[in-house]
Amino acid sequence: MEFRKNQLVTLTIEDMGVEGEGIGKVDGFTLFVKDAVVGDVIEARVMKAKKNYGYARLERILQPSKDRAEPKCLYHRQCGGCQLQALSYEKQLEFKEHKIRGNLVRIGGFPEALVREKMEPIVGMDELWHYRNKAQYPVGTGKDGKPITGFYAGRTHSIIANTDCLLGAEENKPILELILAHMEKYKISAYDETTGKGLVRHVLIRKGFSSKEIMVCLVINSGKGTIPGQQELIEKLREIPGMTSISVSLNRENTNVIMGKEIIILWGKDTISDTIHVRDMRKSGYPFTGRELTFHISPLSFYQVNPVQTEKLYSLALEYAGLTGKEVVWDLYCGIGTISLFLAGSAKKVCGVEIIPQAISDARDNAVRNGIVNAEFFVGKAEEVLPEFYEKAAATGVGEELLHPDVIVVDPPRKGCDEACLDTMLKMQPDRIVYVSCDSATLARDLRILCDGGYEIQRIRGVDQFGMTVHVETVVLLSKGS
Ligand code: SAH
Repeated sequence: MEFRKNQLVTLTIEDMGVEGEGIGKVDGFTLFVKDAVVGDVIEARVMKAKKNYGYARLERILQPSKDRAEPKCLYHRQCGGCQLQALSYEKQLEFKEHKIRGNLVRIGGFPEALVREKMEPIVGMDELWHYRNKAQYPVGTGKDGKPITGFYAGRTHSIIANTDCLLGAEENKPILELILAHMEKYKISAYDETTGKGLVRHVLIRKGFSSKEIMVCLVINSGKGTIPGQQELIEKLREIPGMTSISVSLNRENTNVIMGKEIIILWGKDTISDTIHVRDMRKSGYPFTGRELTFHISPLSFYQVNPVQTEKLYSLALEYAGLTGKEVVWDLYCGIGTISLFLAGSAKKVCGVEIIPQAISDARDNAVRNGIVNAEFFVGKAEEVLPEFYEKAAATGVGEELLHPDVIVVDPPRKGCDEACLDTMLKMQPDRIVYVSCDSATLARDLRILCDGGYEIQRIRGVDQFGMTVHVETVVLLSKGS
């Protein structure tokens, strides 16, 4: 059977792919349909047909799935940021568990029965909207020549104006509107990627959910770090409740990396703070334990975007680490030392490793601020710092107790761990490894290497940090095999 482009077909959506797309069949031919959810009966238009499969566009829902939810955002189809907004939250969680399991089986090569046995129920979110503490809005020029900000239409670099993303903090909208009005008043141009001209590239807004402190950083295409009418802009921004830090980041490169390396503080502090409470993950409702840590975060440092779920994620990592106060622990990819300092409260010594110097400087300050004296931090790539440390300690005996730690925690970016890092972890032979991952595909790949090196999966648990999207965090506990 052959499909023609633009042909209309009727099909039932039977499954959903890892990017949240609906999957159905017409005469044995598989079609991928964005915006359709499992259980829908739809009419779709074929956009691209290959030999055995094709892509179609959702035209009409003939019979909605019982698992459909009414999308709240007007732009959810264009934006592509919320791939699962049309799916009930219960089904979103099922989708995420299925995704983790699928990756561990297909990419990791682990038996499905083992994965099912070790996997604990996913930790879901209570608050499904306005959960993100960070937003990075691109700034561009609208058809009428006025500055706009919004989001990139799925897989493009054209901006669709919208200052009110429902996942972000409620303060984002007034802040963005104020900045756009200021740009218009002072005829400040938006950056244009194709010509490399124009001043304002992005607006970064961060909010400490517990402190209510707000940080605004304008990323500008300038070497000077000044904005026309700057004092007036600062005065207006200061009226937003919670405003704590106003800065610019200088980025003159032709790159899609958002932030420039240099930050100039225009007003207020150079960081905002946030407090994270340790929870008891073994009790229902995950009650607070009374322990808490406060972190200071600078514009360039990584900080988890969903603070409520982060408390659960870290508490779970801490539980998996199984510390009694006597252990030596490495925390690789430590950012501003959040997990490291959680661990330090229950360990003898913790060493953090992180590539961004600014984050390590935040980590050291955060240790002092929380009265933690048993955490040490190293700047550099985990795949370089760890092997170098290992070789040197093995040769000289200096730092010997760190050579064979009790626990290694890793929390790498989406691309996962470098092999040189995994190899050294295997040489160090910790009793336990806790792997915190934001991409279960690279997690599965890395777990295969660690398990081939003698480790065994003990526990697996998903934590939803990113409701409405296809993304999910996973925590895995490995122990040294017998
Ligand atoms: N555990 C931290 C950070 C996790 S995000 C937290 O929960 O906040 C991953 C971190 O790894 C980021 O801070 C990033 O800057 C850092 N990173 C990326 N590549 C790295 C590498 N090769 N070696 C060490 N750190 C790296």
